[in-house]
Amino acid sequence: MGRVFVAGSINMDVVATADRHPRVGETVAGKQVLYFPGGKGANQAVAASRLGARTTLIGRLGKDLFGGELRTFLGAQGIDLGAIRETAEAHTGTAIITVAEADNTIVVIPGSNALVGVDDVAAVPLAKGDVAVSQFEIPLPTIAAFFRRARDIGATTLLNPAPAQTMSSELLALIDILVLNETELGLLAGVELSDSDEAARILDVARKLQAREDQTICVTLGKRGVLALAGREEISVQGRVVKAVDTTGAGDCFVGALAAQLADGVDLRAALAFANAAASISVQRMGAGPSMPTAAEVAAVLN
Ligand code: ATP
Repeated sequence: MGRVFVAGSINMDVVATADRHPRVGETVAGKQVLYFPGGKGANQAVAASRLGARTTLIGRLGKDLFGGELRTFLGAQGIDLGAIRETAEAHTGTAIITVAEADNTIVVIPGSNALVGVDDVAAVPLAKGDVAVSQFEIPLPTIAAFFRRARDIGATTLLNPAPAQTMSSELLALIDILVLNETELGLLAGVELSDSDEAARILDVARKLQAREDQTICVTLGKRGVLALAGREEISVQGRVVKAVDTTGAGDCFVGALAAQLADGVDLRAALAFANAAASISVQRMGAGPSMPTAAEVAAVLN
């Protein structure tokens, strides 16, 4: 059984709730302040670890209160923290979120996440059969170095290119499995795509983006499920009909679950069905980290 290595962001999400948003220059009295561990890297590592994969998170925290809190939280999820460095040069990544009138505003300060460098990924003990996972919340040259090393060793590389931004053809060619939603696929392929587009069109766009013949592109479609192009093979997994209460982190749950299954040697079709079921459980609960299911919960849904 292989391991999951996630190189990515770790944030503290600070959420203030109020009856209405302040105007520029105005102060309003809020109702509550809530602290949630977040960052795509951390969320995906939590998902993989809760599902039973041996998981290592590679990232950076500041020497501050949030850094300490996040380290404790991630350790309690069973994640190996040996590759998380502390830095005095920046504070821990923080998202300041205001929720009012059923809408939110978000300011994200990358802080220590912007310092995750090539050095951080150079020494991690990757081995053949492992799965190397990353997203776009750490510097792209670090992701390229991580994936180059993983491929040299015989590990599988999995990128979730979120938040969406373009990437070099060199980085694209280093990816074995790309997991993205239709908006991100549209941006990378340079076309407009929406969640009402037909499967045939989505697969056509994925085909154009495919950088290697053996590359897999998985397009998550929210409640519609997932479509994948694995080399020439097309795979469709229907979304599960559930009562969604909070879809925050659904994509991260999907990525973590897929990585955990692939590290376990499960074939792609079964791994996608598992990840789809795991993510459908996460949307029925509030929050990102706390909504990630266990393997027993996913097995109960699949049987
Ligand atoms: P986010 O940025 O909110 O994490 P995303 O856009 O990256 O989401 P989605 O495509 O919305 O990712 O969702 C990922 C997966 O989660 C879907 O492929 C599906 O398996 C599951 N999912 C999401 N929303 C629902 C829903 N309403 N009902 C059932 N499953 C869902």
